Amino acid sequence: MPKMRTCSYCGRPIEPGTGIMFVTRRGDVLWFCSSKCYKNYLKLRRKPSKLAWVKKSKASWK
Ligand SMILES: [Zn+2]
Repeated sequence: MPKMRTCSYCGRPIEPGTGIMFVTRRGDVLWFCSSKCYKNYLKLRRKPSKLAWVKKSKASWK
């Protein structure tokens, strides 16, 4: 069974088979529910706590 993931950016659950998996150079695995979250994280470097559409801010954000 595929594991249920949550978006590393907005905290929403990601359905198996969807979303984007991103591995940083440090080896951290990040999951994004959509290209929206992906772009916001990589290109815009926005903090989730500052965005209105983000459900809850992640404590592990650095
Ligand atoms: Zn997301």
